[in-house]
Amino acid sequence: MDALKAALASLASQQGFARVGVAAVTPLTADAARLHAWLGAGHHGSMAYMAETAEVRGDVTHPGLLPQARSVIVLATPYAHPQLSEGLQPGKLARYAQGRDYHALLYDRTRPLKRLLRAHGALARSCVDTMPALERAWAARAGLGFVGKNACIIVPGLGSHVLLSLVVTSAELPPDEPMQERCGSCTLCLTACPTRAFVAPRVLDARRCISYLTIEHEGPIEPALRPDIGNWLFGCDVCQDVCPYNKTKGDGAASTAAFAPRGRWSELGAEDFLRMDEQVFDQYSRQTPVRRAGRVSMARNAAIVLGNSRDKRHLPVLRWAAQHDPDAVVRETAQWSVDRLSALEDEV
Ligand code: SF4
Ligand code: SF4
Repeated sequence: MDALKAALASLASQQGFARVGVAAVTPLTADAARLHAWLGAGHHGSMAYMAETAEVRGDVTHPGLLPQARSVIVLATPYAHPQLSEGLQPGKLARYAQGRDYHALLYDRTRPLKRLLRAHGALARSCVDTMPALERAWAARAGLGFVGKNACIIVPGLGSHVLLSLVVTSAELPPDEPMQERCGSCTLCLTACPTRAFVAPRVLDARRCISYLTIEHEGPIEPALRPDIGNWLFGCDVCQDVCPYNKTKGDGAASTAAFAPRGRWSELGAEDFLRMDEQVFDQYSRQTPVRRAGRVSMARNAAIVLGNSRDKRHLPVLRWAAQHDPDAVVRETAQWSVDRLSALEDEV
């Protein structure tokens, strides 16, 4: 099995994965308990699917994944392309959202590993956000990285701007040593969060998190939280950008080429998301992570960004949206922003 593991590692590197590790399949008891406590506190907000899949998340042997699972191969792909889009004025997209959608790309990269495992008589299935699984817990157990106080997986040498893929297999591969937390006394991420979303280290109240609010949450965003969303149209990188592990130049630059920002984002600003109809949104969001939010949520987010801009030149488009957008949530949010900008002294 040592030879198979070495062959898999070599194949993973050829496929563009910057790190690979192996964890033995035994219950993730502590991680599953943390998930249940998190759900019990309601920190998942309206992500009902998190509660619905809680039982199977910590168990890769559940019938929907692989009952014969003995090992989890964890693969890390850095996505922090050095070039960030300067477009979207105003408005910002989280780094991972500026490039192409990663699911199909990473899924395809796992195929040769599964073929090799199957050639050795093993069963194998990939999981790239496509199955409920505790990816970060598996990554820590496989020695790839540790879960930082910002609740992200941090891979020393790569930082936290990484995407995780799992290959679950019936092969009993030699496991790697788990990695323990290496944050030390640092608390930069906890204090930098604009919406004070961390209730404790590694415990995020998603209901206050800009990533959740702008991507996952449908419906109106609580007005008290809107000013702290600032310029974020989709996602938020603040608790990762302040992390010292993301300051050093990573060694995974070669594998970030596939995640270069899409040119379309430099053509747009928040006003455009407020003007788009479903058809235009469909064109712009195709094959990008932004599609997940949908036209209505992106228009809602755009209205908030414009309302936070302190720039009254955005009032005409906001007034138009407050009157004419087909969605009531967008109309209400646009009116909130009209009121916010109108209340400003004439500064701009
Ligand atoms: S993503 Fe942004 S809002 Fe969410 S916890 Fe991190 S800093 Fe806070
Ligand atoms: S900013 Fe500091 S505390 Fe937060 S994850 Fe990074 S090292 Fe850990």
